[in-house]
Formats: sequence, C-alpha cells, structure tokens
Amino acid sequence: MANIVAIVGRPNVGKSTLFNRLTESRKAIVDDFSGVTRDRHYEVAEWIGKKFTAIDTGGFVHGSDDIFEEAIRDQVHIAIEEATVIIFMVDVTTGITDLDDEIADLLRRSSKPVYVVANKVDHAKLHHDSAEFYAFGLGEIYNVSAATGSGTGELLDAVVSHFPEEEEVEEDELPKFTIVGRPNVGKSSLTNALLGVDRNIVTPIAGTTRDSIRIHYNQFGHEFLMIDTAGLRRKSKVNEDIEFYSVMRTIKALEDSDVVILMLDANDGIEAQDINIFHLAEKNKKGVLILVNKWDTIEKDHKTAVEFKQRILDKLAPFNDVPVLFTSVTEKQRIFKTVETAMEVYQNKIRRIPTSKLNEVMLEIIAHYPPPATKGKHIKIKYITQLPGRSPMFAFFCNLPQYIKDPYKRFIENKLRENFDFAGVPIQIFFRQK
Ligand code: GDP
Ligand code: GDP
Repeated sequence: MANIVAIVGRPNVGKSTLFNRLTESRKAIVDDFSGVTRDRHYEVAEWIGKKFTAIDTGGFVHGSDDIFEEAIRDQVHIAIEEATVIIFMVDVTTGITDLDDEIADLLRRSSKPVYVVANKVDHAKLHHDSAEFYAFGLGEIYNVSAATGSGTGELLDAVVSHFPEEEEVEEDELPKFTIVGRPNVGKSSLTNALLGVDRNIVTPIAGTTRDSIRIHYNQFGHEFLMIDTAGLRRKSKVNEDIEFYSVMRTIKALEDSDVVILMLDANDGIEAQDINIFHLAEKNKKGVLILVNKWDTIEKDHKTAVEFKQRILDKLAPFNDVPVLFTSVTEKQRIFKTVETAMEVYQNKIRRIPTSKLNEVMLEIIAHYPPPATKGKHIKIKYITQLPGRSPMFAFFCNLPQYIKDPYKRFIENKLRENFDFAGVPIQIFFRQK
C-alpha cells in the first residue's frame, strides 16, 4: 500500500523547501553521472521506520499566473482523492491570503487527514502569529521552519500515525507487473495485446481495498498479475492529462508491483520524467524492464538498437544492469519476449544464492582484490550471507566495516552482478562487524 503525503499550498510558502528536507534530496538534484537535472517533485522518504512518498505539488504547476490558481485547485482535488495525508502549507510571514482561504475551503470538505503547517516560524516569537490559521477550521496548527527543520519532527510523527499498519506479506503470491510510462507510449495497446484473443483469461480481483486493479493473466505459459490503473484512470477522464495525477497513479501502481515495465516511445527516447520513475522504482527496490516501443517507426541499421540501448543506460548510470527490449505492439513484435523478460527480472529479484556458493565465489574475488587498507589498517572480509527479503540484500561480515568506501562497494556489487544474474534488480550491500 502506497503512503502518499502531498504538500499543497500557494506558491512561495516553502513547499519545495519542506519537500527537500523530508527527502534530503537537495544534493541529488543534479545527477553526477548523467548530467541530467532531475527535477524531482516526488521522492521516497522515511520517518521512524515508516516509508512514504512525498509529493511537492508546486513542482507540477507551470505557466502564467491566471492558470496558476486553476492548476492549484485541480491539485488539491487530486490530492484529496489520491493522497494518504495532505500537508497544507501556509506562510506565517504573510498571513492568510485569498488563495489560502480557497484551498482551505476545498480541504475542509474532504475526509482525508489534513495538517495545517505554518511555515517560516524561524523564531519562537513568531509562534503566536500562527494562531490566525485556526480560522481555517482545520484543526491544530503545526509551526515549522522548513529552512532550519525545526518543528518538522512533530509534524512527521503526526503524519505517519495515519499510515495503515504494514500488511502481512502474502506468501507464494503471483508475480506482479505494472506498465508505466508517459501518455501515448503504448501502455494500453500493450495491455490489450497481452490479453490476446482469449479474453476469458482476465480475472480482475475485485473487492480489494487497493488503489489499483489486479488482473490475473495466464499467458504464454506464465501466470502473473498485472497491476492496472488504466481502468481507474478512465473513471475520472478529466484528470487524465494532468501530470500530477498520472504521477500519483504511477506511484501507487509501482509500490504494489514486483516488476515495473517502463515503456518509452522510440521517437522520444528516455526523458527526465522516465528517469524519475526509474529512480523511484529503484528506491522502492522494484525490478525494472525497459521497453522501447514503436520500434517499427524507426529507420534503423544493425547498430541502431545497440546505440539506442547504450544511450539509455548511460542516463541511468550507475545502476544500468537493466534489460532493454525494442518492441512494436502494433506489429506484435516481442510481446512474448516482454513477458518472458519480466518473469526473468522477477526471478532475479527473488533469487536466493546458497551461502556456500556465495562464499566460494565472492571470497576468492575478494582475496584477489581486497578492500584497500585505510589508516594503515587491513580490512578482512570473512563471511558473506544473503539476507532474507523481497529483493537481494547481502551482508559482508568484516573486522572494520566503517573503513569500506563506496568504490569498493560498487566493485562488490558489479562482481555479484557478473557472477549471479540480477539484471533489472537493485542490490543492497551491507558491511557488518564480525
Ligand atoms: P514553494 O513555492 O511553496 O515551493 O516555496 P519554496 O520552497 O520555493 O520557498 C519560497 C521561499 O521561501 C524561498 O525563498 C525559501 O528560501 C523561503 N523559505 C522556505 N522555507 C522557509 C523558512 O522556514 N523560513 C524562511 N525564513 N524562509 C523560508
Ligand atoms: P498509452 O497512452 O501509453 O496507453 O498509449 P496507447 O496504447 O493509447 O497508444 C498511443 C498510440 O500509439 C495509439 O495510436 C497506438 O495505436 C500507437 N501505438 C502503440 N504502440 C505502437 C507501436 O508499437 N507502433 C506504432 N507505430 N504505434 C503504436
């Protein structure tokens, strides 16, 4: 179940400052590897062990002043429908404006938990100024300074208290896939192509409290569930073109899935929005498979696919052990291969390497390339084990884990990938004291 915390409010109250604080993403804005500026408005965050996705709605408002207010109203509506908790941010230094009042009116009519956050309370003497926000009739006011972080702890304690308890992980469930991508890349066409001619194979699992529909497939010799938000998307047609809305839906579908099928249009290649989705999938420890669709429309020679793939992987660095397929849904090219590969990624995700095999292979590699000595101390890795979990996690037991640096960690990850198949799957590596 996806916990989504949407930060709403008029411009300049400090939404993105709070977002950055919650997600600590300031440093990550410009990606060192790809040189792409990642304009991230949604990001995984965690507080006292509870995970959620924070969304800065301000990031989705573009354009001139007159469409501003309309866009903000749309967002508040969507947030009310889709978010778990809404943070309504106002600015103590300006007090209540007309737009604040309008937003408060919309929020008052919703049944979602709303937290009124008075921002820019940088000094204790501003505390009593925020009392005017009680006029919204939305309950308690949380005084924060997004700039310094003061007050954000109390706010988060309250926010996460609304998250439902973690659901029991259902054992021996079927693999869950979801198709994501920008509008018009071919998602619905693929969904339909997968249905094939025999429509009886589709069994929507009804009556769940989930945010998305699960469709049970038994196709091409594989049994799996497709997490589909398209049906839900259609329900409120007006929202379909709003980027903020589709991002909300994507986050929900993604968090409910094992493997994310990220679909691109061959004519556009991979764009910032796609990279954001990829990043979110990776952070959520999901498997990923990339489809370059509409491959039929591309003029190509024997090098085109190789070069195309390389361009995509370069942008996903450093995590670029990802399968890329070139599909044409309309020409029915590689539809079967798509299912096969998604199954493979799923297998990679749940793969368990026997401890003896893991130690045999990795200890030999480590013997040849031990971690470099730090401060004159030698680091000895003695024993390796895979930790239980829904995605690959490894513990390397050693004498001085604190001296292991990132480059060595990457080296280890690459060796794990070379020796065992983890294509499309994020790996976590921990060095622990033995
Ligand atoms: P948004 O448009 O709501 O996302 O607002 P921003 O996060 O871009 O912030 C608007 C302005 O308010 C920026 O100049 C921030 O530096 C400033 N700001 C944000 N939080 C605080 C705060 O806690 N205290 C003060 N004094 N300024 C803040
Ligand atoms: P969605 O918005 O991602 O669900 O995209 P759709 O499935 O609605 O497809 C958008 C348009 O692209 C439709 O006109 C499809 O017929 C077309 N389309 C989908 N896949 C392909 C493909 O592989 N090749 C070509 N040429 N067109 C495609």
